Amino acid sequence: PKNANLSWKKTPCRFCGVGCGVLVGVEDGKAVAVKGDPKSPVNKGLCCVKGYHSVIALYGKDRLTKPLIKKNGTYVETSMKEALDLIASKMKETITEHGKDAVSIYGSGQWTIPDGYVASKLFKGCIGTNNVEANARLCMATAVTGFLSSFGLDEPMGCYEDIDHADVFVLWGNNMAEMHPVLFSRLLDQRLKRGVKIIDFATRTTRTSMAADTSIIFKPQTDLAVANAICYEIINNGWVNTAFIETHCNFSKGLTNMGYGLEDNFKFKDKPQKIDFESYKEFLKDYTPEKVEKISGVSAKEIKYMAAYYGDPNKKVMSFWCMGPNQHSRGTWMNNLIYNIHLLTGKISSPGNSPFSLTGQPSACGTVREVGTLTHKLPHGVVMNKKHREFAAKIWEVPAENISPKPTYHTIEMFRALDRGDIRFMWIQVTNPMVTIPKLKRYRDGAKKEGRFIVVSDVYPTPTTDIADVILPSAMWIEREGLYGNSERRTQYFEQMVAPPGEAMSDTWQLIEVAKRLGYEKQFYYQKETHIEEIYNEYRRHHEGKKHNMAPLEVLKTQSGALWPYVEGKSTKWRFNSKYDPACTNGKDFHFYGKPDGKAVIWQRPYEPAAEEPDQEFPFWLCTGRVVEHWHTGSMTRRIPVLHKAMPHAYVELNPSDAKRMQIRNGDSVKLTTRRGEIILPASVNQRGVPAPMQVFVPFFDESMLINDITLDSFCPISKEPDYKKCAVKVEKA
Ligand code: SF4
Repeated sequence: PKNANLSWKKTPCRFCGVGCGVLVGVEDGKAVAVKGDPKSPVNKGLCCVKGYHSVIALYGKDRLTKPLIKKNGTYVETSMKEALDLIASKMKETITEHGKDAVSIYGSGQWTIPDGYVASKLFKGCIGTNNVEANARLCMATAVTGFLSSFGLDEPMGCYEDIDHADVFVLWGNNMAEMHPVLFSRLLDQRLKRGVKIIDFATRTTRTSMAADTSIIFKPQTDLAVANAICYEIINNGWVNTAFIETHCNFSKGLTNMGYGLEDNFKFKDKPQKIDFESYKEFLKDYTPEKVEKISGVSAKEIKYMAAYYGDPNKKVMSFWCMGPNQHSRGTWMNNLIYNIHLLTGKISSPGNSPFSLTGQPSACGTVREVGTLTHKLPHGVVMNKKHREFAAKIWEVPAENISPKPTYHTIEMFRALDRGDIRFMWIQVTNPMVTIPKLKRYRDGAKKEGRFIVVSDVYPTPTTDIADVILPSAMWIEREGLYGNSERRTQYFEQMVAPPGEAMSDTWQLIEVAKRLGYEKQFYYQKETHIEEIYNEYRRHHEGKKHNMAPLEVLKTQSGALWPYVEGKSTKWRFNSKYDPACTNGKDFHFYGKPDGKAVIWQRPYEPAAEEPDQEFPFWLCTGRVVEHWHTGSMTRRIPVLHKAMPHAYVELNPSDAKRMQIRNGDSVKLTTRRGEIILPASVNQRGVPAPMQVFVPFFDESMLINDITLDSFCPISKEPDYKKCAVKVEKA
């Protein structure tokens, strides 16, 4: 470097779940530049537009630097000590007056591993409430229930290296070019080098479709039928890997017609029932390509085309998906169905044969799924299991009876409980629910009701800080030390590189300070200088053993992360395959050890319609999602001038034929009306993406055009993850 003060330090990127390794240039105490880390096996030196500009997000003009307390309707600056004292006393008061299940914490897949760990330890272990949820419920809960029901253990069996071995990539409702751009560039690179095929299977044409070899469009919700038709074709053409399914698979069916979670206190538990291969075959007779063509709009020829790639014994196939099958009112089923295809053909857990569920957030896997910041979860296991509670309690040094055996509220229900008044205190960290919760008006009104006390820790003002009684300024990303876990089970460490502004403090330390004030000094023994190391070492104890061992911190400090299970100094790249995974013990080539008999489950899952489908009054489908320039609700990326300029506001994408019929031109104002309300947006015709006729798409990053005011709060009854991709809407020129 020309400037002797400039030094480069490694960290994972702050933004998406790809988990690219980046190098941050620090000069005179300020982060001034970013480049891709050439040593990172994830991105091999490349970044996307968000990654390259990420450090600018640290320096927005309206950064929160002082704690604020709401007094008589206005926010007044205060000291951190006073703010933390007030939070602790409000928590005590709420617990005394309304019980421990009246206090809650709502976190994030952008929480670092230590943030989530201390939140879980404080609320579940010390206070004794399972009121711990995270925004990953809105994006990854379905992936979890998909993995658990098919394999008994969460997270992908393969890794990104599968991309270097696969011949065909099928993207299930996954606009990877915008949502996982660096990973998508690895697919394109393989096409240049080896001529691999990329098939985009989606409800709208996107940048991914434009780069793919084949783009296949299906009617919303009918991916269930198409996946079943692919299974039908695999069986009908004799492409089943009989030896694999006989040795390694069971067949099951679950309950059907189980609702969409639209009522409060919705309770549902699936009831698996074993079936045999013959009855599964019989079930699939309803899903011939010709029958499914009528439901899905996908031609029988296209279904057979996809099935033939999966069925070809000489082709290695990777399936990628993210929010399409996950934010889906039958999302767990959809995940099961993709696994079915890979299990029937035996194309799983080996290099290049990989069903791969991607995550959106940088630590949705690392923090939410592995630390277990969902109501039913513990770092190792679930609250319902006595042994798991005892194990966690021992490490946390709390009486086992402290941990309640009953899950309380999943995310939507948690906000319903706040509305009803069953929850009186909520601490929100690293997330912006007043932009992201579907059918938002109800939940915003609920949070504002008398007698609720809301704490929000964030780095910038947002619609969520607007509902806060106390706002805590948080230290961001490299202003503190931390760890993330990405989509491929890779845990990555980052050091503190620059000082946080003003009184901003890490979310981890905010929680520790409050825990001490609540009297849990013994459990929160951590020292300021060494707390991240102490917390991570304590956390690792929850995952000891060949099935989930985490790499030591010394390894993570020097390498670009490591994949768990990390056994005898090595990352495990392909789980459940005895060639690569030391946890396999059944003496066979594969061992799905998450299930008691070591066998994965092929599920009989039918097609069922969505919770709300277009009708005469609301004749269009509404789908929501992200854009490449902005990270989630845009609270950080909209403060990066180049990204804000590139994508300054939300819009509604229309199909050109619909736009022409309604005489709507690009940029015209369009009114969208659903049963929840209305919103006006500028039209986007033939710009970024093109929805199919009678469908519209709106990105959710823009807090000035809150699309979630009109979305529907239906969810997958198994995962409780909302379906943001489908509701009925009326479209008019405004
Ligand atoms: Fe960051 Fe994701 Fe872009 Fe990689 S792809 S640089 S992790 S935002």
